[in-house]
Amino acid sequence: MMRTLGAPQLFLVRGEGARVWDVDGREYLDFLAGIAVNSLGHAHPVFVEAVSRQAATLAHVSNYFSTPPQLELAERLCRLTGAGDSGRAYFCNSGAEANEAAFKLARLNVGDGRRRRVLALTNSFHGRTMGALALTGKPPMREAFEPLPGNVEHIDTTIEALEAAIDDTVAALFVEPVKGEAGVVDLPPGFLVRARELTEQHGALLIVDEIQTGVGRTGEWFAYMHDGVVPDAVTIAKGIAGGFPIGALVTFGHASDLFQRGQHGSTFGGNPLAAATANAVLTEIEDSGLVANAARRGAEIREAIAAIGSPLVEEIRGRGLLIGVGLTEPVANEVNAAALAEGLIVNAANDSSIRIAPPLIIGDDEVAAFATRFAAALAAVERA
Ligand SMILES: *Cc1c(COP(=O)(O)O)cnc(C)c1O
Repeated sequence: MMRTLGAPQLFLVRGEGARVWDVDGREYLDFLAGIAVNSLGHAHPVFVEAVSRQAATLAHVSNYFSTPPQLELAERLCRLTGAGDSGRAYFCNSGAEANEAAFKLARLNVGDGRRRRVLALTNSFHGRTMGALALTGKPPMREAFEPLPGNVEHIDTTIEALEAAIDDTVAALFVEPVKGEAGVVDLPPGFLVRARELTEQHGALLIVDEIQTGVGRTGEWFAYMHDGVVPDAVTIAKGIAGGFPIGALVTFGHASDLFQRGQHGSTFGGNPLAAATANAVLTEIEDSGLVANAARRGAEIREAIAAIGSPLVEEIRGRGLLIGVGLTEPVANEVNAAALAEGLIVNAANDSSIRIAPPLIIGDDEVAAFATRFAAALAAVERA
């Protein structure tokens, strides 16, 4: 394995629902869900059946051809995002690739030729490939790999910075509606609404990166829906197929007319195996009311964390089942390790933030088990 990875925290062999087991047979409550990927938890019968059935029917054909699962998924995503009849979907295999496609879309929005600037937010995360990295607002991730694609400017996440930066030379603004990798940090109130007003006024595309926040995680299908905003494009990946790799760019309105034949593509993108799995996962999320469950369980988890009353907890951020716990001291790695010792998987997103992103299927039992184990982990770190 390349040295890009840190030492693995566990060696896992099996999962079921919100639980996984390691090689020694120890059970863990998985409140990270593969970083907001395993929407239905592990080994969900709907996921297993969809992968198995489509693998035994037609797994891959190339994009010289289309397939029923691919068209069905395009239609479903246009409906769920709100893009509707003027929407279009482009399929790829990961979040970074979805943002690469969105970046190329932004480059096509030249207007009369003057729109060349792309804006993104400081501290945002958009992926590790060169284009996605150019959009990512974290200098330590970028510096070793420069020069990156140009004309990208990172602005502070304030309405004032937005107003100062946007004019008719901006092709697109990229926004992560809750900054997940930054430790689950919310946008300031009114930011997205103002971003929509200003981009519309100046002919810039509003591109929302919903790779982590999308597909029900925040208690709405997409986080921009909390603000009643309609973007020009949205990027989707992580939770869409419950663990099967797939990404998508969905465009709205006139943004759907920008890409022309031959301007982008992917060998694996939208193959029937990935598309059928996404269709099954999205159908299950709809049929079982898992978006509403994310809102409800998210509120319960927030209450449970507050009720622990730990002096280490400074604030609770995020929405629905994307939760950030801001700590009063830089002990996130210690809390993460103590949680593992208690049989709980969470994530130290940075020195002083814990990220929590359980599967959307969790119920009373999982919330109660989380509360017990997280309280024990916090207490262990307080004692140390
Ligand atoms: C995870 C993530 C990405 C990158 O997705 P990959 O599938 O790892 O390439 C991009 N944007 C956001 C907001 C993410 O959370």
